[in-house]
Amino acid sequence: MCGAPSRRFAALPRPSIRLASTPMDRDETVDCGAHGRQAISFVCTHIAHGLLDGTTPGFVIAPEDDHLLPLGWCDQCEAMVQEFGGDWNDEATRRAEFKLLCALCYVEAKGIAISAGRFRNLGDPTASH
Ligand SMILES: [Zn+2]
Ligand SMILES: [Zn+2]
Repeated sequence: MCGAPSRRFAALPRPSIRLASTPMDRDETVDCGAHGRQAISFVCTHIAHGLLDGTTPGFVIAPEDDHLLPLGWCDQCEAMVQEFGGDWNDEATRRAEFKLLCALCYVEAKGIAISAGRFRNLGDPTASH
């Protein structure tokens, strides 16, 4: 028997938005003061602060692959990124000051934006139809 090795196509990791000095490991957890130990997520500082007083500066995501908690940023940050040519370069990332949120805080912030009609999913192909 000549066992021909079955050909495997390893999925190459796609370039995704990288946060300077912030590891985006989806297995990491955070011990949230309100929700206990949860998966981590990241949102811009404006969303993080809006969550503190229950307001929203907008909530924009551009999910890649099957990421459950894609990076979230506000309308103001989205406008800034557009000024930079649509890319999250180092300067844009620095200005957004991404904050770590627990998964449930993230969902809460997103929920506030959705009920305010200010949630946008740039990565959803059905949204552009
Ligand atoms: Zn922002
Ligand atoms: Zn939380």
